[in-house]
Amino acid sequence: MKLAAFQFQAKRYVGVVSADLTTVSPYQLSEDQADLGALAIIEMMADGKDLPPLGQALQLSEVCLLAPIPKPRRNIFCVGKNYLDHVKEIKDSKLGDAQGAMANLPKHPVIFSKVPESVIGTKAGIDSHPQVTQEMDYEAELAVVIAKKGKGIKKEDALRHVWGYTIINDVSARDLQAKHVQFHLGKSLDTFCPMGPWLVSADELDSSHASIQCWVNGELRQSGTTEQLIFDIPTIIEALSAGITLYPGDVIATGTPSGVGMGFKPPRFLKKGDTVKIEIAGIGVLENPII
Ligand code: MG
Repeated sequence: MKLAAFQFQAKRYVGVVSADLTTVSPYQLSEDQADLGALAIIEMMADGKDLPPLGQALQLSEVCLLAPIPKPRRNIFCVGKNYLDHVKEIKDSKLGDAQGAMANLPKHPVIFSKVPESVIGTKAGIDSHPQVTQEMDYEAELAVVIAKKGKGIKKEDALRHVWGYTIINDVSARDLQAKHVQFHLGKSLDTFCPMGPWLVSADELDSSHASIQCWVNGELRQSGTTEQLIFDIPTIIEALSAGITLYPGDVIATGTPSGVGMGFKPPRFLKKGDTVKIEIAGIGVLENPII
């Protein structure tokens, strides 16, 4: 099942995308529920409630897709340094110098977060924030969406807590990461969390063998697979949930493969007018212009 949040004739909806990706059938929901996007449906499923009926299918080409969870209830959890080649490219960069020992290969998952207000949908513009950063970068990532509440979740049970997956661009201001040392500020600027194009339920994607590619202005920059993850999804969920309760609709971005702009010599940062396109086979395409 693919769940999309979208706008049609100035109203917001959440619906099921058809298998051939041509139509979307909206759930009959109140305005407040529809504003939550897929979160409304995930929470109903977690509570064991019946899902509302579906209305008439609309052509996907006629709706404006929003982020599938446009208003997450909590910060987006993120894993940093989770692909070996990406750890190396950052360690060898100016940012690696600023991070010191933190730039080494991690022994445990490196967790940080992005504020929920940074989320935007596919096709929406990523603000270049010229007053704040001159080193804006992209990070293509597979993101996990949690299905049910849990704490102390063991690795072997972790995938039972997963509702499904989506794509996140973990947009990053490298100069702010270096200047403020911690990740949060440089990762949380407004519009710095493109998410989409929709959610794909766990039964439709083998997340341990997902290929991730990223293009900037049509040039392939990143190409990896989740087989290369240093900490796999069950390990990430076990580490996060050891002391933090996870809730339905929580989103966890699992890290980015090598090929980010910071890793080039000289670095190739994003600028106004660029377009970043990310594809994960089995999910779809997330594409955003820099404005
Ligand atoms: Mg990242």
